[in-house]
Amino acid sequence: MSETPASPSLTARAVAARAAPYLEGLNPAQRQAVEALDGPVLMLAGAGTGKTRALTTRIAHLLSLGRARPNEVLAVTFTNKAAREMKERLGRLMGESVEGLPWLGTFHAISVKLLRRHAELVGLKSNFTILDTDDQIRLLKQVIAAENIDEKRWPARLLAGLIDGWKNRALTPEKVKGAEAASFNNYGGELYVAYQARLRALNAVDFGDLLLHMVTIFQAHPDVLAQYQRWFRYILVDEYQDTNVAQYLWLRLLAQGHRNICCVGDDDQSIYGWRGAEVGNILRFETDFPGAQVIRLEQNYRSTGHILAAASGLIAANAGRLGKTLWTEAESGAKLRLIGHWDGEEEARWIGDEVEAVQRGARELAAVGLNSQAILVRASHQMRAFEDRFLTIGLPYRVIGGPRFYERAEIRDAMAYFRLAVSPDDDLAFERVVNLPKRGLGDKAVQNIQRAARAAGVSLLDGARELLAHGGITGKGAGQLRGFVEGVERWHSEVVGPLVRVADTGEIVVHDDEVGVSLGSFVRGVPTKSHIELAEQILEESGYTAMWQADKSPDAPGRLENLKELVKALEQFENLQGFLEHVSLIMDNASEDAAEKVSIMTLHAAKGLEFPVVFLPGWEDGLFPSQRSMDEGGLRALEEERRLAYVGITRAERLCTISFAGNRRVYGQWQSALPSRFIDDLPAAHVEVLTPPGLYGGGFGAAARPAASTIEERAARADVYASPGWKRMQERAASRPLAQPREARHVVIDLDAVSDFEPGARVFHQKFGYGLVRAIEGDKLTVVFDKAGEKKLLASYVVAADNADDVPF
Ligand code: ATP
Ligand code: MG
Repeated sequence: MSETPASPSLTARAVAARAAPYLEGLNPAQRQAVEALDGPVLMLAGAGTGKTRALTTRIAHLLSLGRARPNEVLAVTFTNKAAREMKERLGRLMGESVEGLPWLGTFHAISVKLLRRHAELVGLKSNFTILDTDDQIRLLKQVIAAENIDEKRWPARLLAGLIDGWKNRALTPEKVKGAEAASFNNYGGELYVAYQARLRALNAVDFGDLLLHMVTIFQAHPDVLAQYQRWFRYILVDEYQDTNVAQYLWLRLLAQGHRNICCVGDDDQSIYGWRGAEVGNILRFETDFPGAQVIRLEQNYRSTGHILAAASGLIAANAGRLGKTLWTEAESGAKLRLIGHWDGEEEARWIGDEVEAVQRGARELAAVGLNSQAILVRASHQMRAFEDRFLTIGLPYRVIGGPRFYERAEIRDAMAYFRLAVSPDDDLAFERVVNLPKRGLGDKAVQNIQRAARAAGVSLLDGARELLAHGGITGKGAGQLRGFVEGVERWHSEVVGPLVRVADTGEIVVHDDEVGVSLGSFVRGVPTKSHIELAEQILEESGYTAMWQADKSPDAPGRLENLKELVKALEQFENLQGFLEHVSLIMDNASEDAAEKVSIMTLHAAKGLEFPVVFLPGWEDGLFPSQRSMDEGGLRALEEERRLAYVGITRAERLCTISFAGNRRVYGQWQSALPSRFIDDLPAAHVEVLTPPGLYGGGFGAAARPAASTIEERAARADVYASPGWKRMQERAASRPLAQPREARHVVIDLDAVSDFEPGARVFHQKFGYGLVRAIEGDKLTVVFDKAGEKKLLASYVVAADNADDVPF
């Protein structure tokens, strides 16, 4: 047989791609980066020069040319939001929706998918739980206590930092040696071993493990690695300057197959050194991938002249950089604006007014909608002042860039209940809510459960069940604990679907009460309830909602509101598992609603994004640059902070405003501050200094105003709960019912098989005789038998009436 000639459709595609509209408008360097498909490519260029655009176009090009199928492209972005945006952009470029890019996502999101396929290679089950920081700390506390170390002197957070650092450097416990292993009062290495063992016993991983386990698997199982090396024909990585060692190894291992790896980044935007990112990775690219094409881009398409010049001037103050010149064809536009305020609340008030002014078109720009405006903060505690102020004046906002919502206590409690429903063996979730609401279980009772579970080598839920069975817990707590244990069992059976027994005749019998019987002739049916209904049921039956309803504290209504919001968030997911997975991975908001809202986010989260109008508040020494970073990292950290400032300014397209306050309340303490040293780095020719309005105008440096009056003013302003905005919100919440009840679904067997029969078909059953098929669901039939009446049974137990003679049973 002769060799297959090149497929005509491929050739046609190639021709089409050559004239592809998506290539138009790229500059020559970008085009080079898009078209250099084979071999390693590095795009090293400054902010806003179109790196991400070129990378996205490259994917479009690969797909259009038919060089790779969507599932053969591995594309790594820094945030989930960036991944979503890339998919949208691709859709626009290719003029069709791009659904099937399963391997476009963050390192973590991709790793979790890979690890689920190979979990057993590192001693986990594929349904492992992903712990968040809070759970991680809780677990570490237990590990520390087990070694009889005083947690007060040697806090779990410190150990968490050490372990994360090791994981970021791809160090498994056996690789931590010498002085490092002797850290944490000599126990560092040992505790790391114990922690990993606990994680494994709990069938859990922390964030760092997602990558570390995959690197371990790739290194120890060349066959698995080879499979993915073949699979991923093209690898693309955005924001390469922020990869840590584990991510770097992960990529390098995978890229060794086809060596078609394209990385883009900017050494001036390396802002995750504190989390183990190694800017050296990008500088070493040519050594790692000999023969790599290095492409530099210099034209900035994002910002107007003054903004770009101000940012360039600022970053020039850093010593450790490759150095590059950026230019723009855009007009000079507005100068970067600088304004000082008396305190943080005044700053928030001013920015709120300014956002509205810009929205009305009162700022020399055409009106700019709220979606196009962003407030970028150095530290998340700065956000509250803006949230409070915007609630007061009814200015819609969204907080992006941190799982803030999901960090709230009530949300975490509710999630713990959901986690238990999904995996009843999730001990951390059990501990969190077993006595929440109060179930009359003291510390001692909980310790008893732990002891019983440990002794029997079972989960806490099983331990509790055992204790109850043997009278190990008595009194008021016993009854309530029993209710809790039974609740978890019930919810779990809702998650996995009812137990269905297939009788000898093929007849399907639902057995809710048969839990515990050998699964021999049992199968699981599809859950009868939607996961939304189930979530509501869990919150009701556990008494958790009632606990907050009974709570008279001022924040209880807000917490109930959040719980409703949580249930609402579930609507976007198919099931609880999917939702929990998503939450454990998010770095940005789950719901990207279309409504016009001003964004509030950290500078770190803003990487790669752009907004026509940007506010950069809190430029004070100590806050930005952050004192803590400088204390820990000295000059290196200062330079990283300056890069963060550079990232901030370069997010702005047309208007950028930097502000600082003379006084600020940080964690309840008033502190006075000096303007950030970064302000001195800004080239004066590109900056306009504004005078703050108001009675005591003059902002920072103006004569101090009487403290008493400001405190009263502040108190009046801080009364968010009496404000019209808050009341409106409450009314809206009250008028919005919980999710609508849905129609109950029928139980169907969860098998993909589809029967050959059609409704109306005449069939024969060994025992029930002849009948007519009335309905079909999957491989399950409802048959009205002539003599035996209506039955539900598996299709494989009947034959077409014509073949009655062939009945094998
Ligand atoms: P960052 O370093 O901040 O991640 P980047 O280099 O990835 O920036 P992009 O976000 O890709 O830059 O592009 C910045 C802006 O410039 C985007 O709005 C993009 O659409 C636009 N842009 C990029 N290339 C071109 C071009 N050739 N012509 C016109 N606009 C462009
Ligand atoms: Mg980018």
